[in-house]
Amino acid sequence: MIKFLFIVANLYVSTSIAALRCLEADLILTNGTIYSGLNDDSYVGTIASKGSKIIYVGDVVPDNLHCAGAKVINLSGKYIYPGFTDAHGHLKGIGYRELSLNLQGISSLSETLEVVKNYLSTKKPGDWIIGRGWIDKVWPESRFPTRWDLDLFSPNNPVVLERADGHAVVVNSKVLKLANIDSNTEDPQGGFIEKDTSGVPTGLLVDMAMNLIGDLIPKLTREDDKEAFLEGIKRNIRLGWTQIHVPGGTFEDISILNEIKSENKLDQRVYFMVSDGEPADRLLKQGPIIDPEHFLTVRAIKMYADGALGSRGAALLEKYSDYDGKGVFIFLEEETRPRLAKALSKGIQIGTHAIGDHGNRVVLDWYEDSFIEAKKNNNFLVSPRWRIEHSQNITPQDQRRFVELDIIPSMQPSHAIGDLHFAIDRLGLDRINNAYPWRNLINQGLIIAGGTDAPVEIGDPRIEFYAAVTRKDLDGFHDNGWNLDQRLTRFEALKMFTIWPAVASFEEEVKGTIEVGKLADFSIFDKDLMTIPEQKILEAKTILTVVNGKVVFQD
Ligand SMILES: [Zn+2]
Repeated sequence: MIKFLFIVANLYVSTSIAALRCLEADLILTNGTIYSGLNDDSYVGTIASKGSKIIYVGDVVPDNLHCAGAKVINLSGKYIYPGFTDAHGHLKGIGYRELSLNLQGISSLSETLEVVKNYLSTKKPGDWIIGRGWIDKVWPESRFPTRWDLDLFSPNNPVVLERADGHAVVVNSKVLKLANIDSNTEDPQGGFIEKDTSGVPTGLLVDMAMNLIGDLIPKLTREDDKEAFLEGIKRNIRLGWTQIHVPGGTFEDISILNEIKSENKLDQRVYFMVSDGEPADRLLKQGPIIDPEHFLTVRAIKMYADGALGSRGAALLEKYSDYDGKGVFIFLEEETRPRLAKALSKGIQIGTHAIGDHGNRVVLDWYEDSFIEAKKNNNFLVSPRWRIEHSQNITPQDQRRFVELDIIPSMQPSHAIGDLHFAIDRLGLDRINNAYPWRNLINQGLIIAGGTDAPVEIGDPRIEFYAAVTRKDLDGFHDNGWNLDQRLTRFEALKMFTIWPAVASFEEEVKGTIEVGKLADFSIFDKDLMTIPEQKILEAKTILTVVNGKVVFQD
C-alpha cells in the first residue's frame, strides 16, 4: 500500500505542475475499483487513456483530464483489472464452435440428443449436421453416444458430433454408409473404429479413424475461416479477454488475421504460434514477425511431444495405473532437433505440448541440449522464454529443471478441475502428487502463463480464475488426494492471466498491469474477483472490455 501511495503522490505533483496543459484523454473511466495488478490492493479511482496508452491512473482526478472530447464512463465502483489474456486458446476453433452446433456443457446424453434434434429441424434434407463439444464423463448415462441414437431422428441427414477433446467423433449410419465403413473395415494406424460385441461399428471413430470420413465433410473455405476468427474474437471480448495466444496455425490463418486487422476488426490482441512442419520452416526462414502495435505478433512455433491423459496418449515414465501402456510420443527427434537449433538462432520461441512426466522430461532434455549447443556456437539469445504447453505431470527433479533452464510452464487450470474425475485412476495416488503442480512451480520462482485450451475447455476467464484458486470442479467437488495445497492465491491467479502471459509473449514492458505508459487494455467485471466467496466468482459478469484504449465490448 505504501508503494502505491507514493506513486499517486508523484502523479499528483506532476499533474499539478502541468495543470494548464490539457491531457486530451479520449477515454476516461471514473469511479472504478482499480486492481493495477502490481499488488493485491485496490482503490477507487480513475483511469484515462489517449490513443492506445494509459495516461493517468490514480484516485485524485486532475482538472485537465476533461478538457477534450473524451468519452467518460462512470463505473459506479465496478472492478477494473489489467486486460485478461488467454495464453493458450485455439481462436479459430472457438469461432467454429460458436458457428456450428455447440454441445459443450450439456449434462446428459438425452439432452445432448435433444439439442441435436432441434438443430436438425432448422436444416434442409441432406445438409450435414456438424456439432462439437460433447463430453460423456459428466453424463449420468455414462456411455458414448452411438449411431443408433442418432438414426432415431436423423436417418437421412449425415451427422458428425466431435467429442470436446477432439480425439473422437460419433457419426450416424448415413455417414458410415457414405464412408463405406462396415464390420469388415479394419482399424487404421493410430486409431480405431469402435465395434459392438457382434463386430458392428457403433458409430464412434477414435483418433486416426476420424480421417476415414474427413474427405466427405463439405470443405471449409477461407471465407468460413474468416467468419470463424471474427466470431471467436467477438465471443472472447464479450467474456473480457483482451488477448489470446494461439497455439498453432498456418500462414493462411495469419493472412486472414491481417485482413481482419486492416479492416479494423481485430478487437482482441493475438500472439500467434505457427504449427510445426511447413509453417514452422517458413517462420524459421523469414524470422519473427513482430507487430509494433502488439495486435498480431508471430514469433513462436507450437510442437507436440505426446498425447492427452484422458485418452491415455500422454507419455509416462511408468505404465498407466489403469492400462498396460506408457502413452505415445508424437514428435520425431531428427525433425525436431534442427528446428530447435534454428529457432534459438533466430529468436523464435518454442511452445511444446507435453502432458505426461516422460513427455515433459524429453522436452526438457531437448531444450537443454539445444541451449548448450547454441551457447557453444554463440547463438544463444539472453532469454529465449521457451514454453511447455500444459506441463501437467512433472517429476520433482524435472520441476527444478524448469527453473534451471528458465522454461515457462503454460498451464490451464480448467484441465485440472476437468481431469480430477479420472486423473487419479490414470496415475495412481503417488504420481498424482506431481500433477498440475502449480504451487510447487511458483514456490520455486517460476511464473505460469495461464490459458484455457478452448475449445477443448469452455474458455471462460471466470472458470479459469475459479479453478486456479479452488482446484475444485464447478460444483465444488474434489477427490481425496487431490492436493488442494497446489491452489493459488487470488493475486497469483490474477497474475496468471495478466502479467505472466505478458512475459510469455515478451510484452511485459507494454502490458499486463495498469500503469501510465502501458497499453490501455482492461477487463471490467461487476464483482470483486479478489475477495468474493469462491462460488460467486462464477457469477461475475463482464461489463466492459477495453483494448488499445477502445471500448470493444459494453454490456
Ligand atoms: Zn491446445
